[in-house]
Amino acid sequence: MEEIIAFCKTRGFVYPSSEIYGGLAGIYDYGHYGILLKNNIQKEWLKSMVQKRSDVYALDSAIFMHPTTWKASGHVDGFNDPQVDCRTCKSRMRADHLLEEFDIDADKATLEFINKELDRLKAEGKVKCVVCGSKDLTPARQFSLMVKTNMGSPTDMLSEENVVYLRPETCGGIYLEYKNTVNSLHPKLPFGIAQVGKAFRNEIVARQFIFRTREFEQMEMQYFLHPSEMESIYEQWHEYRWKWYLDLGIKEEELKWVQHTKLVFYASKAFDIKYHFKAMDKFDEVEGLHARGNYDLTQHSKFSGENLEFYDQQRNEKYIPHIMETSVGLNRLVFMFLDNAYTKEEVNGETRIVLKLDKRLSPIKVAILPLMKKDGLAEKAEEIYQAFREYTMSEFDAAGSIGKRYRRQDEIGTPYCVTVDYQSMQDGTVTVRDRDTMLQERVSIDRLKSYIIEKVGIIN
Ligand code: ATP
Repeated sequence: MEEIIAFCKTRGFVYPSSEIYGGLAGIYDYGHYGILLKNNIQKEWLKSMVQKRSDVYALDSAIFMHPTTWKASGHVDGFNDPQVDCRTCKSRMRADHLLEEFDIDADKATLEFINKELDRLKAEGKVKCVVCGSKDLTPARQFSLMVKTNMGSPTDMLSEENVVYLRPETCGGIYLEYKNTVNSLHPKLPFGIAQVGKAFRNEIVARQFIFRTREFEQMEMQYFLHPSEMESIYEQWHEYRWKWYLDLGIKEEELKWVQHTKLVFYASKAFDIKYHFKAMDKFDEVEGLHARGNYDLTQHSKFSGENLEFYDQQRNEKYIPHIMETSVGLNRLVFMFLDNAYTKEEVNGETRIVLKLDKRLSPIKVAILPLMKKDGLAEKAEEIYQAFREYTMSEFDAAGSIGKRYRRQDEIGTPYCVTVDYQSMQDGTVTVRDRDTMLQERVSIDRLKSYIIEKVGIIN
């Protein structure tokens, strides 16, 4: 973990936020390569979830929403995590995570259940503080994850009516725009609405780099359907989402499905996709798939007074659609892909660090390097670079030995390095070096664009 965190900082991927003021716990900023990687992951998700599907629509709803939204959804009263404090070092822990270590599923469990299990383990002397090892822990109590703020003119600021919440998940906006989507786009059931956006949670513990932060981004899709289709549609998405990970280079053995054994009363099925983080040496959740019944729209219908029924022409039936949700953390995926790609290899007695990212995710697709800064090589390379940057993220680098420049590009995951050498000046060809095999091929400058496009896929 320490190595990945240091790598991300020194190579311009992820920085601790507000560092010159001592930092802000659980908040991170994304540097040049980090944001390019994050955008590419988002692009691949949107491609799979919207571009390649005629049944899913895109949405970008606001972070501020009517406060009743979160009363209707149950978040104001019940979006809590169970917290345990260490009386010795004052560290805070998630009680459900403490129990998870003993294979006890306490996600969504009652406080009564959690404290009963904790007391049993305490009596056996088993449970202790994850920071200092002390066994002197408080009982669990509920802690609200909702982040509150005020909206309105400064004179009204302190009044209770002006309290608004920073959304704790993006799907709330999807439920509220369900009706406008139906009325403006006239979809047939089943259909989905997908969006990517920021969410905020007052997490009790935010110690795992960008795995769990207090400000983060989610990519969520709510699929509206007739209840009789839930089972089969759930299976289809189950397979579709699994394949997305494999397609982007994650191996089957690095992933697993974990089924929730405790469900909230309105849900009929819930699975998480867990990835094996090398940096944490454990499998942990990256995505959830939930069969949510019609609870969300029913609640919003009740609290808003709006009829949210759908008239299903094919069935000649009016009903509130049921929802199948896929929900994934974009920042967690940045961590997952970095964790997966980060590789150290021995090459000629030296250690090479290389990010073996899928080429579609690489922040920089091609680097143009003049072998020397003389005899017109740099000018030729600059010319190629100017042409390339018109349609893809490229870099020009003339500083230091060619070997060092290859290593720099390896570290940020650039799949191809194009080198302009003396032969280029004579026959109009360049060498193209492959990041993973380190093999070089001579390609004519005229063919370079189509060659790279063929290797990397469509680039823009
Ligand atoms: P956890 O049990 O890890 O707290 P959760 O089950 O509450 O997560 P959901 O509410 O289902 O998570 O959120 C869906 C996805 O959003 C998660 O799978 C995760 O990828 C992401 N996510 C949730 N909370 C955070 C966070 N604090 N930081 C980063 N990503 C998050």
